[in-house]
Amino acid sequence: MGQRLLEVQGLTTVFDGPAGPATAVDGVDLTLDRGGVLAVVGESGCGKTVLSLSILGLVSPPGRVTAGRALLDGVDILALPEGERRTIRGRRASMIFQEPMTALNPVLTIGDQVSEPLRVHAGASRAEALAAAEAMLGRVGLPEPHRRLAGYPHELSGGQRQRVMIAMALMLSPELLIADEPTTALDVTVQGQILELMLDLARDAGTAILLVTHNLGVVAQTADDVAVMYAGRVVERAPVAAFFQGPAHPYAQGLLASLPRVDAPGRRLSPIPGTVPSLAALPAGCHFHPRCPHAFEPCSRQTPPLIALSGGRQARCWLHAS
Ligand code: SF4
Repeated sequence: MGQRLLEVQGLTTVFDGPAGPATAVDGVDLTLDRGGVLAVVGESGCGKTVLSLSILGLVSPPGRVTAGRALLDGVDILALPEGERRTIRGRRASMIFQEPMTALNPVLTIGDQVSEPLRVHAGASRAEALAAAEAMLGRVGLPEPHRRLAGYPHELSGGQRQRVMIAMALMLSPELLIADEPTTALDVTVQGQILELMLDLARDAGTAILLVTHNLGVVAQTADDVAVMYAGRVVERAPVAAFFQGPAHPYAQGLLASLPRVDAPGRRLSPIPGTVPSLAALPAGCHFHPRCPHAFEPCSRQTPPLIALSGGRQARCWLHAS
């Protein structure tokens, strides 16, 4: 086992609304080793994005973290004063968002934005930081990087903007990168290239990645471990090979069964019936029970714990309680 970098313990995030508090992240435990890749998967609305924002202390009102810790090398990011948290986010941990246009500042040049981490967190001069930014833009495959330094985000394509985001996020070789659906907004033809680029650069820098995605194909290609979320809870955790051999939780089984497979061309796809429940009105017990084909007596009354299984897997399901 590699050296532990991130340990999330009991993380809980609630959003206050007119109908009362809604729990978006419910007691999540996760671990990520140095240089490893952990994929967090699940349908839209399952809490993946709120989880990633919560880990870095980026949830803003009406959301609030109500319990839990996010330990980076043993230090709880969430217990630090905001100034120290900002330093960690600048130097040791970065985040790539799914829509780069919302994360890039439209009125600052590309050069100023990509060079900022070096100027602010590493004390580089403007000239040094711009030279490093130009080199980094070249590494992420942006054409004519010198000319781009003086350009603005709106002059770039979606794929080029995401390359700029990757350059910014990896400028200081962070120990942790949280990538939230980093290729979702892109044309399918460039998604693979951008993902590969991000992984190659992160690997070179020894950066561990928490990859938030709904794409199980991406998980199979990139991750060491997978955590499946449903309605704010982690319902399965497993090494990636064991997961694809046979997921243990009925929701994870449903996700896999709804995917087309190249090794089974004639197979009928079976989508999971129903929809993800509203966070303001979650079903009691196992939140998946109204959609689960295996639901039985305790499921609608009692919340199952995460149960340890063989091969390093864990599943939150009464079927595995013995
Ligand atoms: Fe289905 Fe019950 Fe398992 Fe939930 S606990 S996934 S309802 S069998």
